[in-house]
Amino acid sequence: MTPLPRRSLLIASGNRHKHDEIRRALPDGFAHLMVPSQLEAEIGSTAPDPIEDGETLLENAIIKAQAYSAWSGQPALADDTGLMVSALDGAPGVHTARWAGENATYEENVLKLLEQLSGVPAAERSAEFRCVLALCDGDQVLLTVEEGCPGSIAETAEGDAGFGYDPIFIPEDESRTFAELDASEKDAISHRGRALRRFSELYQQFDLTEGSR
Ligand code: IMP
Repeated sequence: MTPLPRRSLLIASGNRHKHDEIRRALPDGFAHLMVPSQLEAEIGSTAPDPIEDGETLLENAIIKAQAYSAWSGQPALADDTGLMVSALDGAPGVHTARWAGENATYEENVLKLLEQLSGVPAAERSAEFRCVLALCDGDQVLLTVEEGCPGSIAETAEGDAGFGYDPIFIPEDESRTFAELDASEKDAISHRGRALRRFSELYQQFDLTEGSR
């Protein structure tokens, strides 16, 4: 019998930096991975931009995965990431993307955080990136994974690789920021790299072939 075609796995994000990191971390067996722009013409509408009003990273990851899966009819994998800074009682946390305002740029978010930590000594600048991945098929939540990367917030922005808060996040046991590491160095230790490796192991158990659901 001819095996049924495997359905696509859609990355539930419009963020090309996340696309790059997810593609890099998932092995060749994920050849059916797609980004939303590849499906827009076929579907005839632009990808959704759901309101992330959950109270946790997990809730927001599920909101995104369900919205993209409903839009595409494909299983969708969402990532929701937060930066937890000890000196700010865990903020920005779930508000990481919009820390300096609704349409804040990466630079504005970084600047606000540096200002808030101005004068805070190195020993009290600890922080952690947390990354939650959610795989949904329609409303069904098939799999969730959470991983973290401990580190600290630099005094000044350094490096120009990566995105977001990378120029001010120094992972544990490193002297360089994420933005000074090359892609493979970041993937090996980052919250997203760790979560994707775990996801990849667990994903094998799902039968996402055509007609399986
Ligand atoms: P969200 O997960 O798309 O809601 O985004 C959270 C925000 O966290 C993003 O807008 C980025 O500013 C930031 N962010 C997410 N992942 C990373 C990362 O790997 N490095 C630096 N900043 C990140």
